[in-house]
Amino acid sequence: MKLFNLCKKKEIPGFHGGFNLLEAYPIRFCNVIEKISSDVAPKQFVFNAPQQKVEQVIVNLCPTEPWALPNWVTLAHDTSSFLDKVVALRARCFPAARVAIAISEKEGKHVTEAIKYAGNTDWMTAHPLNPKYPQNDPVVLSKVVLHAEVECGADTTTQGILILDAQTIAAAYESNVLGNKVNSRFVAVSGTGLKENEVIRVELGATIGKMLGGRFKANGTHRVFVNGPLCGREITDLSQEIDWSVNNIVVLEALNVKVMFPMIKQEEMSFTTNILGEVRQCVYCNFCDDTCPMDLEPALYYHSYTRGEGHKARSYNLGKCIECGLCSFICPSKLELLQTIKACKALD
Ligand code: SF4
Ligand code: SF4
Repeated sequence: MKLFNLCKKKEIPGFHGGFNLLEAYPIRFCNVIEKISSDVAPKQFVFNAPQQKVEQVIVNLCPTEPWALPNWVTLAHDTSSFLDKVVALRARCFPAARVAIAISEKEGKHVTEAIKYAGNTDWMTAHPLNPKYPQNDPVVLSKVVLHAEVECGADTTTQGILILDAQTIAAAYESNVLGNKVNSRFVAVSGTGLKENEVIRVELGATIGKMLGGRFKANGTHRVFVNGPLCGREITDLSQEIDWSVNNIVVLEALNVKVMFPMIKQEEMSFTTNILGEVRQCVYCNFCDDTCPMDLEPALYYHSYTRGEGHKARSYNLGKCIECGLCSFICPSKLELLQTIKACKALD
């Protein structure tokens, strides 16, 4: 593989290109399941435009994680109809805003359609992007699409930039333009711990346990991640409810052996499942430094922390870390670098 393809390129100041996870771990979602109900009255989706004036809306149609909800679920292969909804929502909620459509350059026909559609307006632009992780991060996306000067960790809405994904646009159109109730959403579920990768329409308020019921592979122990294993969170309590913030659930088999260089194993997403495996010392390979999209030095934070000098990490641009988790992912010693980074940040 592709290890050499993973080298970063200097493209945008403050963001160095990222990593193509979609090539490393291609995932197919075959089934769309309709629909898992909550056992209580389902909660309702509410879309409130931000308090701040919205000057720019970025519609993010460029998922950069293999386990993210694929666009076709919401767009139904009809980009123009979807963009009609964007037009109506803009007219209702942010009539003065410019709209940038960020779309994966791999989606040929849809890119052409988006460019053509945008060309008929003087306020919409289409931006074909190479879908490299972590370009979905709001600050990074603002830099890549708008070349905006946004501080890492900042809320982009405070700078007038609102970022919406396809499913949120569709739901906001349904509720704010058509006046219909929206009480369910699609969640992508995938990973080595499940029988199949599926997209499930689930009522808001249903528990994660109910949604995953019967879908685990029978044997072994599993680790469950909400919103992905890289920068999402691991949960053990499956009674948590699905709300609008849950985009995907990844279930991985917990291995009791360490997988060396998991990035070259295309068939398994095993990179964070070594909870019982041996953690080795840092081997000073510099992979983490090389892969960091923000040009930081994760190993330096790790060594500062383990020496009891985590407070010093701030002197090395720790605040620019967007917590994408690529450094943990790439580390051949399976060191939990992101956890260390979060611990250093918490020292303040
Ligand atoms: S999580 Fe790691 S790779 Fe990502 S920005 Fe922070 S230091 Fe860099
Ligand atoms: S990738 Fe892991 S082993 Fe290599 S330098 Fe970074 S922390 Fe050390």
